[in-house]
Amino acid sequence: DKGLEKTKTSIFDKISRVIVGKSKVDEEVLDELEEILISSDVGVDTTVKIIRRIEARVERDKYTNIQELDRILKEEVAALLAENNSQDVKDSFETEHLPKPYVLMVVGVNGVGKTTTIGKLAHQFNKRGKKVVLGAADTFRAAAVDQLKLWGERVGVTVIDHGMNTDPSSVAFDAVKKGMELGADVIIIDTAGRLHTKINLMNELGKIKRVIQKFLPEAPHEVMLVLDGSTGQNAVIQAREFTKVTEITSLAITKLDGTAKGGVVIGISDEFKIPVKYIGVGERMDDLQVFNKMEFVDSLFK
Ligand code: GDP
Repeated sequence: DKGLEKTKTSIFDKISRVIVGKSKVDEEVLDELEEILISSDVGVDTTVKIIRRIEARVERDKYTNIQELDRILKEEVAALLAENNSQDVKDSFETEHLPKPYVLMVVGVNGVGKTTTIGKLAHQFNKRGKKVVLGAADTFRAAAVDQLKLWGERVGVTVIDHGMNTDPSSVAFDAVKKGMELGADVIIIDTAGRLHTKINLMNELGKIKRVIQKFLPEAPHEVMLVLDGSTGQNAVIQAREFTKVTEITSLAITKLDGTAKGGVVIGISDEFKIPVKYIGVGERMDDLQVFNKMEFVDSLFK
């Protein structure tokens, strides 16, 4: 997991620095741990929750040995992540267990890595012999359509587009229609994410859903929010805004390579109770990983 290396070093280093020269888990250590977690973007509420749990265990089980702190912390974070990430992550790039076609709608504000994540997903499905159709329904942002088309070419999958400034729901409709004609396994629809016009966005996403449902009543099967993990609390704020605008059923958290902000995954997972499905660890096609809570915790606190 070279992609998560930086995150790992950073939180691990901070904790090591706290416990060096100390012999027992006392209030001072817990205060410092609290600071580390907050500065690692775990979020205040989630941090307090974790610290309380550790305190309770220290009291109950008489953990005073400082060497135990890493392990307890790791166990508590893993438990917290497990509450909201119970899905089988064996291989979330497989489609055998999914309805066909599986319609995935992707939302997120500009710049978070939405298009890149869609391209990476298309690549992963395509690599496994699945037929993928992409719908370029982010028709508002300059270059979004072209960028998706570029990814389509690079990966070798069909992209449905009507150009810029066209009706997103009409693109989505055509993508689903074409996907069904082609016998697609997965149809991924890129949508606009303009949070400053929340009502418009709500209406637009609602319309896309309704139009798709005319064709395929149970679609979209998944609405994935893409968040930029390197923006820390900004990602949390975006998640709050988007969950007000539309129902989000999964998360992809990008740019967890080269950042000390991996802790944001813990806070977001705890606050929103939405499973984290994928993490982005780079700009290349293969830099998308299925989120594995145990691996993730290991990478943070090993
Ligand atoms: P969009 O506006 O949300 O569609 O964002 P893009 O997909 O265009 O991505 C914005 C920038 O972030 C691009 O330069 C991407 O290469 C970069 N990016 C996307 N995902 C990742 C990631 O996981 N790690 C890194 N380091 N960069 C990423």
